[in-house]
Order: sequence, then structure tokens, then C-alpha cells
Amino acid sequence: MRSAIRQRSPAELAAGYTRAHRVLETTAIVLFAALLALLAVRTAGALWQARWTFLLALVAAMIVADLLSGLVHWGADTWGTVETPLLGGSLIRSFREHHVDPKSITHHDFIEANGNSCLVLLPAVGLALVLPISTAAPWGLFAATFLGILCFFLAATNEIHKRAHQDAPPSLFRALQWMHVILPATIHDIHHQSPFARYYCITTGWLNAPLTAIGFFATLETLIARVTGAIPRHDDIGHEAALELATSLGIVSPAAPAASRPLRPSE
Ligand SMILES: [Zn+2]
Ligand SMILES: [Zn+2]
Repeated sequence: MRSAIRQRSPAELAAGYTRAHRVLETTAIVLFAALLALLAVRTAGALWQARWTFLLALVAAMIVADLLSGLVHWGADTWGTVETPLLGGSLIRSFREHHVDPKSITHHDFIEANGNSCLVLLPAVGLALVLPISTAAPWGLFAATFLGILCFFLAATNEIHKRAHQDAPPSLFRALQWMHVILPATIHDIHHQSPFARYYCITTGWLNAPLTAIGFFATLETLIARVTGAIPRHDDIGHEAALELATSLGIVSPAAPAASRPLRPSE
């Protein structure tokens, strides 16, 4: 299977990171941190009197963050190309680069690792700030707390993913990995092993086993492949390997028509 895999060069994929984008990422991180700090200050008093609300929001937000991280990661791994409008140059490029050279993520500094996440999460933190926050409005307090914690964990997801690839992460990250508060390296390693089509969740990693057990992503791929005719992972690992893998997983039928092959612009 792996011998048929055709991937782009790491240099080509890494070259998509421009100076202008770095300025945008830096600005987004500063703004995101400021808005999240403001939300923490605004909710702290009410949450002190409603500690169960905080605990419930914390657990719910960590589960939903893991699910969303899995959906975004799966989407970027499986569909589209680095030329896809809007998402190709940033999201898809970074995941394709990561598959070619999994250790390269450990060389990304704080801004490159976390800037894009903070940028896309800015509207969500803004929404949390306009919700009613008081013990007199319990659902508003819960929603604001849930959104704030969700944004925090989603923004931290790339940092967590990076630490799962480090040979010797700092002791704080090692302790959190050991307690399964954040994605442990041993769990994430499964994603980088053949057939490279499972364990997409990279925040807490809690949902990897249950989603694999119920065939969650394989079912989504089957539905999308049937509706669109696209072959999952076509651009990431090459047409032959993608077709072989999708067939072996039962996502496309063995007699999938050659016409269903999506053409790359250069072909
Ligand atoms: Zn991946
Ligand atoms: Zn990884």
C-alpha cells in the first residue's frame, strides 16, 4: 500500500508559509488572548457561585473540541488539495506537510503552530463575550463558559499535536499527556501508522477509540464518495494508493469507474 503513495515534497509544501501570513497570525494570537482573558474576568465571579456549571461546561467543551479537531483534521487529510480556495494554502497545506514529514511540526514556533487557530476562533470568542453572563441567566453563563473553554482547547490543539510528536516535551505537557487531559503521543502514533485513516482527534484524544469503533469517519467518507464520486485521500497519497485504500476499507466499490478520478490542475 505505502509503495504506491505519492506525496508532494516537504519543501514545496513548507514554501507556502509567507511573511504576510505570519503578521496576520501574530495579530490574531494577541487579539485572541486578550478576548479570552476578558471573558475569563467577566465569568469568574458568577462561576465561583456556580461551580457545577463550570465543571459541566469544561467536560462538554473538551469532548466537543476533540470531535471538532477530528472533523477538521479528517477533512484536511482526506479532501481537497493545496490549491483549494481559502483552505488550501493554510489548513490543507499544513496537514499535507505533516504527513510527508511528521517531525517538522516540532520545528514550528508558537506563532506558526497556533496563529491560524486563533484567527478562525476570533468570532467565537467574540460571540461568548456578548452572551448574558450572570447567575441569574444560567444558560447564558453555561454557553459563554462552554464557548470560552471550547475556543481555548481548539486554539491549543496544534500546540498539543506538536507536543505529541516531540521526543521530550516539557514536563507540564508530559504530565497532561500521561493523565490523558491532552492527546498522548502513544495514541496519536496510531494515526501515523497504516492505513493512515483513523484516530484523527488531536485535542484530548478521548474520542479516537469510540469513533473508530463505530466507523464514524469511514461512514462519512462513504457518503461523500457516493454523492460526489471523489476518492478520499486522492491528493494526499496519490490516486492508486487512495483507490486501493478506499476499496479495502469498503468506502468505494472495487469496480469504481476510472472517470471518478479527480484531475489535478497540472494533469
Ligand atoms: Zn493526519
Ligand atoms: Zn501528527
